[in-house]
Amino acid sequence: MKVYNTLSKRKEEFVPLVPGKVSMYVCGPTVYNLIHIGNARPMIVFDTARRYLEYKGYEVNYVSNFTDVDDKIIAKANEEGVTAQEISERYIAECKKDMAAMNVRPATTHPLATQEIDGMVEMIGTLIEKGYAYNVDGTVYFRTRKFREYGKLSHKNLDDLRSGSRSLLVSGEDQKEDPLDFVLWKPKKEGEPSWPSPWSDGRPGWHIECSVMSKKYLGEEIDIHAGGEDLIFPHHENEIAQSECCNGRPFAKYWLHNAFLNIDNRKMSKSLGNFFTVRDISEKYDLQVLRFFMLSAHYRSPLNFSAELMDAAKNGLERIRNAVSNLAYLKENCQDASADAMTAAEQETLTDVKAFAAKFEAAMDDDFNTADAIAAVFELVKYANSTVTSENTQAFVQAVYDEIVSLCDILGLIVEVKEELLDADIEALIEERQAARRAKNFARADEIRSQLAEQGITLLDTREGVKWKRA
Ligand code: AMP
Ligand code: ZN
Repeated sequence: MKVYNTLSKRKEEFVPLVPGKVSMYVCGPTVYNLIHIGNARPMIVFDTARRYLEYKGYEVNYVSNFTDVDDKIIAKANEEGVTAQEISERYIAECKKDMAAMNVRPATTHPLATQEIDGMVEMIGTLIEKGYAYNVDGTVYFRTRKFREYGKLSHKNLDDLRSGSRSLLVSGEDQKEDPLDFVLWKPKKEGEPSWPSPWSDGRPGWHIECSVMSKKYLGEEIDIHAGGEDLIFPHHENEIAQSECCNGRPFAKYWLHNAFLNIDNRKMSKSLGNFFTVRDISEKYDLQVLRFFMLSAHYRSPLNFSAELMDAAKNGLERIRNAVSNLAYLKENCQDASADAMTAAEQETLTDVKAFAAKFEAAMDDDFNTADAIAAVFELVKYANSTVTSENTQAFVQAVYDEIVSLCDILGLIVEVKEELLDADIEALIEERQAARRAKNFARADEIRSQLAEQGITLLDTREGVKWKRA
């Protein structure tokens, strides 16, 4: 399997540090507002990478932070007259709802910057001790000139950067030794959240957060570090500098970056005001359509958002869902529903089906090429539509059905149409459960409770009888 590494600017064979295990860190959002669909792009594409790595048999430790202390969070808190914590907690909860609705699985750990201040103070202390950082009046800066490899990720010419940024130095920053030095710790201003440190009461810079959280939850050296391409410089460049100088060893082996989600060929962003929130989109579309849209392009290609492309994604997803529901119908209505063995001819046909799966895998092995992987699913759908009939055995129909559903599942796309239970059905089942209980048939009663739970129905045994609610 190959992945494109921003560090080497080429595709490399993926070999994890520890066989069978993958440690992966994805920079998460700053939580001061509902996330927009640009922020959703790294969430969806790296969740898909994780799912694929798991499908390949790796045990993936996936860490993604929430940046919950930041100028923008503080500004929003002041605007509303509430605490910064109230703002960050609110938008973390909203972000988690959006993630679930996009079928983005929760990370193994979602650390919060404000819970990891001790580790940051410790890392900054080590950097000062080793001569990689210095304190000026309570502000601590990283001494970029001391790290010879600074610039290796972004492949930037540092002298050009230095002369460019010299003229941009704003007052207050002229205490830096070098224009490329960046803040590790800054003293608090009136009304800001702060923590004690040996240098000043203050708060950490943004870059140090990720170096510390990655080290704490994944170790000093990790397999994959990922995020949007705007993070390559300075965020990830600075993370490398901090981590490698502190730990004395390489930080991440593979650096993966998604391209932007654009609108009218400009980056979708809060500051440009040209964004749609995930919530906006959910009012018009099933968010599975958004996921399908994101995966219909390779993660390193810019993707332009438009109503036409969303409608095309909607049609594409429907085409797969129709094929799946047609196969579900054939499964129940094929000529010999009792026969569970495939015929010899079907066995042979199944090798064609497996060939589509192999194509899917080859695409995903090539730097997670989800666009080509989806094309392979479409070929399989077309094949199923034209090949499978009610004359096939149930075992064969089931095999084709399973293949489509499981390939889509690797992409996090839900294509099975689950029949919703009607209120009357639920009440009939509850009645049957009560009768089973009266007859002391508790096994049957429990079975009904789990059957309902699978459909998202919870039962509440109250004094007035059994009540139920949908999830
Ligand atoms: P932020 O909250 O701005 O720190 O962004 C969180 C994540 O979303 C980062 O990985 C960004 O690179 C990514 N991101 C922000 N805007 C876009 C966009 N328009 N397209 C793709 N990724 C984006
Ligand atoms: Zn980060």
